[in-house]
Amino acid sequence: MMSLAAFGSAHRASNWFSCEGLAQGITRLWEPQVHSFFRSNVFHVRGRDGDLVIDGGMGLVPLRPVLGLLPGKPVVAVATHVHVDHVGALSEFQTRLGHRAEAAFFADMADEHTLAGYFREMADGLDHLPYKGWSQQPFHVQPAPLSRILADGDVVETGDRSFRVLHLPGHSPGSIGLLDELNGDFLTGDAIYRGRLVDDLPGSDVPAYRKTMQRLLQIEFSRAYCGHGETIDQDELRSIARTYLDSPS
Ligand SMILES: [Zn+2]
Ligand SMILES: [Zn+2]
Repeated sequence: MMSLAAFGSAHRASNWFSCEGLAQGITRLWEPQVHSFFRSNVFHVRGRDGDLVIDGGMGLVPLRPVLGLLPGKPVVAVATHVHVDHVGALSEFQTRLGHRAEAAFFADMADEHTLAGYFREMADGLDHLPYKGWSQQPFHVQPAPLSRILADGDVVETGDRSFRVLHLPGHSPGSIGLLDELNGDFLTGDAIYRGRLVDDLPGSDVPAYRKTMQRLLQIEFSRAYCGHGETIDQDELRSIARTYLDSPS
């Protein structure tokens, strides 16, 4: 299981998830069989007093059992935003955090906010079925009402690490990032990642996204763990942000 997640190399965490160990007790998990558009990252941060699970993948198979959580140790799930590829497994966790602007959406996980219908209608959404007999058509996201509603500037603690909540709207109204200023780790959700930034979904807001890019240019960090794809550094993040700002809006 997660003890196999040696630093910097990808492993199978289960029949469904792949994982790799990153710096400072953070593990990245992803679902290689899912279409690249929906293949998002789950980050597991092992803290001294509690763990954070940032985002929850598609929820096609249970996530929690593959994390290797310690019995009795608190675990807090943080959703960077309510899209289907990030909240599929959120209901598996008792303590669930997300931003105020999308708080109502977590309670019912309606398709119009999760955009799960896009996945149901995708002909090539999966390379393999998660298990025999699984069907795409009834797929939907389990409701997962928030137990704590986040706003910009809030702090999420693990005992030995503090992550500041940054509201980074544009991709979606309640998109957030989590920044550990002390250790230089920045979890960005879908606010920014390597590849085409998606700003044309229902709920997307290009002017808000441009303001988010201006803000991202000012943030100091060492490693950005993005909602999709590989870890990027500050130079690459700023280059992506500048490219977005330079493109016609
Ligand atoms: Zn998204
Ligand atoms: Zn995403």
